[in-house]
Amino acid sequence: MAWDFETEPEFQEQLDWTRGFLDEHILPLETIELEVTDEQWKALTAPLKQQVKDRGLWACHLDPELGGQGFGQVKLGLMHEILGRSSIAPAIFGNNAPDSGNAELLAIGGNDEQKKQWMEPLLAGELRSGFSMTEPDTAGSDPTLLETSAVRDGDTWVINGHKWFTSGGSGADFLIAMVVTNPDVHPYQGSSMIVVPTDTPGLEIVRDVPNMHHPYPGQFARHPMGTPR
Ligand SMILES: Cc1cc2nc3c(=O)[nH]c(=O)nc-3n(C[C@H](O)[C@H](O)[C@H](O)COP(=O)(O)OP(=O)(O)OC[C@H]3O[C@@H](n4cnc5c(N)ncnc54)[C@H](O)[C@@H]3O)c2cc1C
Repeated sequence: MAWDFETEPEFQEQLDWTRGFLDEHILPLETIELEVTDEQWKALTAPLKQQVKDRGLWACHLDPELGGQGFGQVKLGLMHEILGRSSIAPAIFGNNAPDSGNAELLAIGGNDEQKKQWMEPLLAGELRSGFSMTEPDTAGSDPTLLETSAVRDGDTWVINGHKWFTSGGSGADFLIAMVVTNPDVHPYQGSSMIVVPTDTPGLEIVRDVPNMHHPYPGQFARHPMGTPR
């Protein structure tokens, strides 16, 4: 059986535009990204994000009610074939992990207040996030073994645990933490996700873990996928 990866001419035109935009406007920014401040970086990338929005390509995989284009995962894959050449490109197109997935989680499970406080600014590209599931002392490939607990204390939850490999964690405004809220039932029923702002007292960011993509400490802040810790 043959797979047909051709797309309709209108979207192919968008892909061709994306390729040219990446070459002309995004790749040159890579040469200065480590030399500018966060404020300068925001000022440099804001007009590029606007062009992507004007072109109808911002967060293309998300449904329109989430501010996206409703194109789905296949078209996202075709775009990422192009955007994957640059570590900064997905954020300029509103489809960078883990923010895009976290926005979908908040859309599915967040209440109105959480959507307003976290999801909307995330979709607007104003906040950054991380997803904290994996732990050092259990097998990360099996989330039913998670040990981090959250215990209700009045109006708040007290979380105890150690996470690592949280991509984008050191530059994130908030984390979505996978925790055990009821150890007495099957993990499928007893696990929860809690939004944890990174300035929460008691939350300690231990370190960035260098990897093959970012071998040196200090290279992480603007690379959502390069920031496990
Ligand atoms: C660059 C990078 C970014 C990441 N980003 C994130 C992130 O944003 N958020 C997050 O939560 N995590 C993140 N992770 C962690 C990632 O999800 C885990 O590394 C992955 O789930 C595997 O878990 P582990 O490393 O604990 O390995 P393990 O689960 O211990 O597995 C090690 C090996 O043992 C095998 N194995 C495991 N259990 C069994 C079994 N029962 N029987 C037989 N074989 C078994 C596995 O297949 C594997 O080969 C990231 C990891 C990397 C490298």
